[in-house]
Amino acid sequence: MRRITVFGSTGSIGCSTLDLVARRPDAFRVVALTGGANIARLAAQARATRAEVAVTADPVRLGELRDALAGSGVEAAAGPEALLEAARRPADWIMSAIVGAAGLAPGLAALEQGTTLALANKESLVCAGPLLLGTAQAHGAKILPVDSEHSAVFQALIGEDAAAVERVVITASGGAFRDWPLERLARATPAEAATHPNWDMGQRITIDSASMFNKALELIETKEFFGIPADRIEALIHPESLIHAMVGFNDGALMAHVGPPDMRHAIGFALNWPERRRLPVERLDFARIGQLTFRAADEGRYPALRLARQVMGEGGLSGAAFNAAKERALDHFVAGRMGFLQMADLVERVLNKMSSDRLGTPVPTLDMVRDADARARSLADEHLGALTA
Ligand code: NAD
Ligand code: MG
Repeated sequence: MRRITVFGSTGSIGCSTLDLVARRPDAFRVVALTGGANIARLAAQARATRAEVAVTADPVRLGELRDALAGSGVEAAAGPEALLEAARRPADWIMSAIVGAAGLAPGLAALEQGTTLALANKESLVCAGPLLLGTAQAHGAKILPVDSEHSAVFQALIGEDAAAVERVVITASGGAFRDWPLERLARATPAEAATHPNWDMGQRITIDSASMFNKALELIETKEFFGIPADRIEALIHPESLIHAMVGFNDGALMAHVGPPDMRHAIGFALNWPERRRLPVERLDFARIGQLTFRAADEGRYPALRLARQVMGEGGLSGAAFNAAKERALDHFVAGRMGFLQMADLVERVLNKMSSDRLGTPVPTLDMVRDADARARSLADEHLGALTA
């Protein structure tokens, strides 16, 4: 029996993970599940999986969680310390599927116990790639990418010499607004941005897909996780979302990973690694699909991609600043305090403001990442007024 823990179990990735776990009840024992405000779902998951402990990130909801778990034998806990405690409970496999920079500290604590960390939380690589990889190495832990594009690259590299990689192509659906004229984007609403043509995901990553901030994070994630230089990483619009990534080698071969847009493939690959097992995902019929289409990812239309290049060039703490500014910009957009196109303006202002902060330190500590994160968030709030004025 493998002991598993799922951070962010109530979210989109968390639910898909538990769907796969439930299909093999004899193979897994659930140690900890964590969520946020959705106590009913967290408690139902913990009861169904007979988890040891359920943790809500929100300390004021502890009483509610206790009530919901009464008589179940599942322990209830709440708050940031409880999340870390859950990460330290011995487990063989831990899913990191909290959304945002909040996933970093539990991910690091999980790695410190030398476990296998399935990493959906791309923000932690963007904020603190060298710290995360260094912690894994120091404790003999393994990180497996769960982002579909990075799982694709990982799979294309199995048995290959990383030195022979010439380029990595990360595909992007283009999100909700891929066919909208640029003029119309300024008036796009949060509800319009939160619908995805191909993938069913959490609200924040869906809006990040429309703005291409998600792809920006993924370009940085590629550089950090695989150690591939920024000038060998490309983004490509592929509206069908069937090719997830391509890896080009120095002999001209291009290995494309193709599959249905269903995160249970990437999650299941990480869950079963290093084996492959049957997964409940659609088998593609290419004769029916007929054709695949591609177009250039225009950095003029998508300033987030240009900013990702700036961050990859700078390294160090610029990823933490970029991600935090992006998270605040998204909060402001969702709350109706600014327009869709202003998110990139705000992030760029924050990055420029922070460029004198010597962001380029090679291996930042968790405290340094937290400081850069906090500063970027407060600068984003300060500059909001200047944007809308
Ligand atoms: P989601 O919003 O559906 O779920 C997020 C989870 O994190 C929930 O359980 C929520 O309760 C928890 N959470 C939110 N804020 C928290 C905080 N401050 N502290 C602790 N827990 C908190 O998100 P999702 O779509 O499942 O995405 C999760 C992660 O996986 C993100 O990093 C996202 O970028 C990445 N990812 C998601 C997909 C996808 O298909 N959904 C694909 C690739 C990568
Ligand atoms: Mg992705």
